[in-house]
Amino acid sequence: MTAPDPLALLEQVVTRRPDPASREQAALLEAELAAAHDVAYAVVVSSGTAALHTALVAAGIGAGDEVLVSAIPVIMTVAAVVLAGARPVFVDTGPDGEPFDVADAASKITSRTRAVLPVHLGGRSGDLQPVVDLAAHTGLHLIEDACQAHGSRYRGWLLGTLGSAGCFSLKDGKLLSCGEGGYLVTNNPDLAARARAFQSHWQTPAPGQPALTRLGTNYRLAEPLAALARISLAGFDARLARHRHGADRLVHLVGDVPGLAVIPAAPGEQPNGYCALWRILLPRPRELSGRLAEAGVVNSVGSFGLRAAHQHAACCSLHPAPCPNAARAADSLLVVPIPIRDPAPDDEARLARIADLITTEVAAW
Ligand SMILES: *Cc1c(COP(=O)(O)O)cnc(C)c1O
Repeated sequence: MTAPDPLALLEQVVTRRPDPASREQAALLEAELAAAHDVAYAVVVSSGTAALHTALVAAGIGAGDEVLVSAIPVIMTVAAVVLAGARPVFVDTGPDGEPFDVADAASKITSRTRAVLPVHLGGRSGDLQPVVDLAAHTGLHLIEDACQAHGSRYRGWLLGTLGSAGCFSLKDGKLLSCGEGGYLVTNNPDLAARARAFQSHWQTPAPGQPALTRLGTNYRLAEPLAALARISLAGFDARLARHRHGADRLVHLVGDVPGLAVIPAAPGEQPNGYCALWRILLPRPRELSGRLAEAGVVNSVGSFGLRAAHQHAACCSLHPAPCPNAARAADSLLVVPIPIRDPAPDDEARLARIADLITTEVAAW
């Protein structure tokens, strides 16, 4: 794919005043995203949260339904389930740290359960086959929160393409970005049609169906943002390679500092290098993560307050059942985003600085 000239493209979108109904850039972006993910359909929306909400609604999930969500979610995942009118039921981390314990999930399936929703934190899925099998055997939808997982693979499949729908964010800082935005990918034509209808007030129903027969929302991605996302997509392969290299470099530079254990890729996992992941083996790991954040190492717990759902203030009105493995796992997780920015030759210096901060703080703890 050749990169469109950014300024020319933006000028064209902003000044040419195309027919507002045509949504030309969004349609081009959808075709390019579907091709890049090797799926039949991509539907672009205004955020990753909107992608999750839209996917759930398009899968027919609503009031009275239950969705099995990783117990270490981000609050956006939980919000999307609640926005859809469904109840999140949290699935514990496995005894060996697997992100989604299928035995716990299976024990929580009721007559109201409609979907499993694993969250691929840090672009990592762990061993996803048991989750795929659970969905297949129970007939539940598998909806992936792949908002951090652009380009990550499991057994060769791109994350986000293993179930009914995969949801991605295009927010700044994600591997593919246009400031704010999102999209979902699916091979299911009905799900795609309902998603497309829902994100624009049911004005664009499936071919042959009447318009405006249901209430939807305005989750449309603005045309200038769609143009920016196309530019970001054209540079994706190079960015992915830099991230993968950067994650390997950071892990290498931090080395064997006592008190940190690298979380290796599970068999079949090919991470995107969005983050590097360690387990903290020292006392008071949450405080250490906070200290690292203060020192300038952006990380999941210290900077973003990651914690198990049943301990999260934003989730307390949902009265989540305790997930003890998730509580331990969340506290000791150190997830550090890989700072890939322009100019590219400075990647190494940025990584060396972060590695230095990590080793110094951990050694002094
Ligand atoms: C970023 C993110 C979201 C939400 O995406 P927005 O575009 O910010 O709405 C959801 N889930 C995960 C795991 C994310 O990282």
